[in-house]
Amino acid sequence: MRIPVGSDSLKAFPFLTYNESFISYRGGRQPLKHLLQVVVEQHTFLPRDFVGGDSALDFLNTVTGRDQSPRDWLDSYARLIEWAALAKLFPQDVLWRLTKEAKREPAAAMRALTGAKTFREQSFALLANIISGRSPSKDALRLLREQWLAGVSSFELRFEGSRVVKDFSGEVDLDSITRMIGYRIVENVLTSPIERLRMCQGPNCSWLFIDTSKGGRRRWCDMAVCGNAAKSRRFYARTGGLFGDLSS
Ligand SMILES: [Zn+2]
Repeated sequence: MRIPVGSDSLKAFPFLTYNESFISYRGGRQPLKHLLQVVVEQHTFLPRDFVGGDSALDFLNTVTGRDQSPRDWLDSYARLIEWAALAKLFPQDVLWRLTKEAKREPAAAMRALTGAKTFREQSFALLANIISGRSPSKDALRLLREQWLAGVSSFELRFEGSRVVKDFSGEVDLDSITRMIGYRIVENVLTSPIERLRMCQGPNCSWLFIDTSKGGRRRWCDMAVCGNAAKSRRFYARTGGLFGDLSS
């Protein structure tokens, strides 16, 4: 599967490919010369990994450094559940049930993880295209629709007081995390003002976030990380390295 993730206005964005054993990114302009292999690495998720403004974007941000040295932090289905717990995607008892199911059916859990990653990359491509003013692919829209509709069916409607409220049904299977991300992309992310959807401009990052700042000028996923790194690089470039590379 190959997914174009073009973005002239932001940065020369790579293409991404999956096959059975690895995921790789290909630079869009010189495809064969820029093959960036994604390294799947162990990562303990921390609150600082949740800066997207919605857990759907935080999920897409479980690959970091897509522009230079991509690292995929979902090294197992158990890690996906660990991520979902920190994201508060489901109540804890639901996550316990998913944990048990994954232990009982490891092959099915692995398939679900692969499905989650496929959806993650299609959705990243979809949003990266929208951010850069391009049309998302029909395939990405079709997959998003599938997951969104499946996510909708995870809710029940109840009348309380004078209004209808949505309740999570509590019924889950190994693909429920993916469905909930699809639901949130449509309901929460794509309903945000498009001009507030951003990709971090920091080096080796490419995280997505919703800019909710008052002035609407947020450029970095995290000023303390990517903002300072970019400033150090500019300083290094301006001074010709006279004072050393402060970003390292
Ligand atoms: Zn960043």
